[in-house]
Amino acid sequence: MMSVAPLRRGRTAANVAMRFNKSKKQFTEASQFIPGGVNSPVRAFRSVGGSPVFILKGKGSKIYDTDGSEYIDYVCSWGALILGHSHPQVVAKVLAAARKGTSFGAPTAAETDLAEIICGAFDSIEKLRLVSSGTEAVMTAVRLARAFTGRDYILKMAGCYHGHSDSVLVCSGSGSAQFSARLSSPKSKPLSPGVPKSLAALTMVVDYNDIDAAAKIFDKYKNKIAACIIEPVAANMGVVLPKPGYLKTLRKLCSDNKSLLIFDEVITGFRLCLGGAQRLFKVRPDLTCLGKIVGGGLPCAAVGGRAEIMNMLSPGGAVYQAGTLSGNPLATAAALATLKILKNKNFYGRLEEKSKMLRDGLLNAAKKASVPLTVNRIGSLLSCFFTEKQVFSFADAKSADAGLFKVFFTQMLKRGIYLAPSPFEAMFISAAHSKKDIEKTIIAAQNSLKAVKASKG
Ligand code: PLP
Repeated sequence: MMSVAPLRRGRTAANVAMRFNKSKKQFTEASQFIPGGVNSPVRAFRSVGGSPVFILKGKGSKIYDTDGSEYIDYVCSWGALILGHSHPQVVAKVLAAARKGTSFGAPTAAETDLAEIICGAFDSIEKLRLVSSGTEAVMTAVRLARAFTGRDYILKMAGCYHGHSDSVLVCSGSGSAQFSARLSSPKSKPLSPGVPKSLAALTMVVDYNDIDAAAKIFDKYKNKIAACIIEPVAANMGVVLPKPGYLKTLRKLCSDNKSLLIFDEVITGFRLCLGGAQRLFKVRPDLTCLGKIVGGGLPCAAVGGRAEIMNMLSPGGAVYQAGTLSGNPLATAAALATLKILKNKNFYGRLEEKSKMLRDGLLNAAKKASVPLTVNRIGSLLSCFFTEKQVFSFADAKSADAGLFKVFFTQMLKRGIYLAPSPFEAMFISAAHSKKDIEKTIIAAQNSLKAVKASKG
């Protein structure tokens, strides 16, 4: 656990020109030993150019890089840190747990406490298993769905990300819009070398928000689809909201076809409200995957759902799943401390206010600068698309101007605002962001958008 050093006032563009010398040197060094210099690809800044900022520490809404610059952070560990960095209550609980032992590989009562809180928060979760990452949660959900139904096919939506296990690392080979029009075989293809084509062929892909395409697949593959997996609010193609009725109709299609509905709430779980997107949209999935916030910033995730399905997991059932660090005491302590704070009165109301303020500020700034901008937002999740069009699908998201995002990202970074280094990632607002942070961000956006406009010539 990192010790919490007193913060030096950081350098921002407002006072001193930003320097990235140490970060650049550290990236060169990292690249000697770590493929691409990073331990997860988006961190490498490939989508936005330049080289990544190396982080020294974080506190509240801010992160500090190794060159001494301060940033208002809208990545928040990809959404995990809904309380902001290094929250004192979370840190205290993690330190206390560490003093008692960092891992036992044997059950602890704290794991039951956490499971009980999660089951209490999510109406659809009767039982759950703790794992260490969202990827693992999804991998287990898919295996359970296949075992429960005795079927092999999976349906997913283009632009939704479900971690990097083989069955979900798949895209539509021929473009899903084209596919739904032709209604031939889906021709799914691996998104990565190493995913067997024969496995990818079991995962069909249709456009998010295209209920007719999903219905046609269910029709064509009668009694063959084990599950439909979806981010109920997509947040890995930027933020894309479900159209009214979409999730409810998908639920009905799954039920009618005796297929399971898996909600991947790794991002939306505990982000939109205590009961996740499923509570907001009043749709009950069979299985739910949780991650990020549920671990309070430490590696912890969960897969849960109907007891009759979950009971199929070993040792009670025959579906194998295991994990050396599952239910790890430090992660469990961080999770318990975080989830306790989320129950505070108006916790989500306060996030909503700041999020609205930021959305309005960004849109006004874009209007003033005559830059086309669409901001999709729900709760404390939002994202910017450089387009005038509404964004309802991956195709819409991809039609936004990624070049303008790149300029915007770089300009915001120079002004001390740390956005996700990709046009397809969300901005996350935490409880630690103050209204002053939001005001500063809006001022930075006003100036950055002028530069975006100038870049268009
Ligand atoms: N599902 C969703 C919706 C995600 O956003 C992610 C990660 O960003 C995952 C699954 C995979 O989670 P992890 O990175 O913890 O493996």
